[in-house]
Amino acid sequence: MRETRIWLGTHRAAGYVVALGLTAVVTGAIWAIEQIADVANISMLYLLAVMASAIAFGSGPAIAASIAAFLAFNFFFIDPRHQLSVSEPEEWVALALLLVTGVITGQLAAALRDRAQKAERRKQEAIVLYDVVRLMTGPDLRESLTAVAERLRQELALAAVVIGFHGGTAAGLWAEAGEQAALGLARASGMAPKLLLGGGASPTPEHRGSPGRWIRVLPPHLPGRPGQTADRLHEVPVHLGDGMVGLISLVRSPEAPPFSAADDRLLSTVASQLAIAIERTRLREEAAEAEILRRTDELKTALLNTVSHDLRTPLSSIIASAGSLLQQDVQWTEDERCDFARAIEEEAERLNRLVSNLLDLSRIQAGSLVPQRGWYDLSALVDDVVGRLRAVTSKHQVIVAVQEELPPVFLDYVEIDEVLANLIENAVKYTPPGSEITIRATRENDVVRVEVADRGPGIPSEALPRLFEPFYRVQREGPAPKGTGLGLAVAKGLVEAHGGRIWAGNRQEGGASFVFALPLGEPGQAPVEAAGESE
Ligand code: ATP
Ligand code: MG
Repeated sequence: MRETRIWLGTHRAAGYVVALGLTAVVTGAIWAIEQIADVANISMLYLLAVMASAIAFGSGPAIAASIAAFLAFNFFFIDPRHQLSVSEPEEWVALALLLVTGVITGQLAAALRDRAQKAERRKQEAIVLYDVVRLMTGPDLRESLTAVAERLRQELALAAVVIGFHGGTAAGLWAEAGEQAALGLARASGMAPKLLLGGGASPTPEHRGSPGRWIRVLPPHLPGRPGQTADRLHEVPVHLGDGMVGLISLVRSPEAPPFSAADDRLLSTVASQLAIAIERTRLREEAAEAEILRRTDELKTALLNTVSHDLRTPLSSIIASAGSLLQQDVQWTEDERCDFARAIEEEAERLNRLVSNLLDLSRIQAGSLVPQRGWYDLSALVDDVVGRLRAVTSKHQVIVAVQEELPPVFLDYVEIDEVLANLIENAVKYTPPGSEITIRATRENDVVRVEVADRGPGIPSEALPRLFEPFYRVQREGPAPKGTGLGLAVAKGLVEAHGGRIWAGNRQEGGASFVFALPLGEPGQAPVEAAGESE
């Protein structure tokens, strides 16, 4: 549509030529009809030419068609023929009627055309604005700006569009679209004469805003020589608050008509949309930064709390037990001695686990955790862990269901052992003694799934999304089992380092279910012959 407008803009005379052509065609048609029959009011056929000209080219060509019709009818079909004089007075009336009807019909049709065109332009404007707003919501600002530049270039049929920011948070941001030669002109816009859209007013509740007027700007070293580029290079300032933060430079094709009022409105709205988008991006970045700082702070506080509380408790109990054992003046029975020694062992183990969890977590967060992988038999790993934790799980019924003939899996034995142990320990810790814990391993396409399901209280739905965060523990009534909320965070880090996934859910029959899925192996990594302790 824009292209048609440009063509008609540059070939304004074409409308008139076509209108006269149409009148000539109708004249021919009337002549042909007259040869066959004598039709009254045949001159009305000219209205077709007038309306067609009005709809296609507007009111000017329609008036031209009306006048041409008046003259042609008079000249060719009213006696005396081939003269512009008229013998009968009533013929004058008919001719005058033809002219008046032609002009009025033409004007009405042209007005309709104008209204339709305006509506179409408004619609187009709204679509472009909508597109610009949507393009600017993209995550990468530079890409969004380039897309907006390209969209504007196509919409306004421009040779090039450059959007550049020199102030505010977006300073230095630059995006462009268009032909190389024209881009060169836009890039060097500081040195070239140009037209600047300025002096606009923002809308108020009572008044529509105005985009402003094009003001000619000449660089100081080019006095009085507007040159050709001045009419090709246009700039629309992007304002944020009181200051100008950027410019939209537009280079028109040499033959393009000047921007219409609708184009000006579109350009100034796009400029204010860009400013809003830049501001929004800044606020979003600030919010994200504040959130990162807040989380780091939270993590640090949690770490300090852990170190001060969770490390201290086992340490004091070790010191107390060891001190008691060393007391010379008290005679301990063998059972009491064993109790002290067991307490020391248990607390030392807790300390050991805590420290290794903390270390793992810091390695995971630093991104330095690289699994030492080999091909292993998963059922052997499950048996290993269950065997090692027999003492821990002694009060529960443990059911192991490993699918037969599981293929070997490419994994770090120590790390996946730790993940599974964490899940089983949790299942023991958070479910009543005597309840069932099921450990299932199955293959599904190219992953193996390991599930630890229990019949305990399950997990409250609001806790599910945060369960794998470091230091997160579900708050429950009554005394909570000992723990620091690191186990699942470490398990998640380890599984993800294997390219796997871990998640938790509640079982329909009651209880929680924790599942991790590991990819079977890396493509191109040939499995070692014997599954098991292969290197
Ligand atoms: P840590 O493992 O570091 O000693 P922890 O067990 O509290 O401490 P996680 O293993 O990360 O930490 O578990 C986080 C929380 O998830 C636990 O505090 C617990 O409330 C909940 N949870 C974990 N497993 C289960 C389960 N099987 N049933 C119910 N709740 C569970
Ligand atoms: Mg745990």
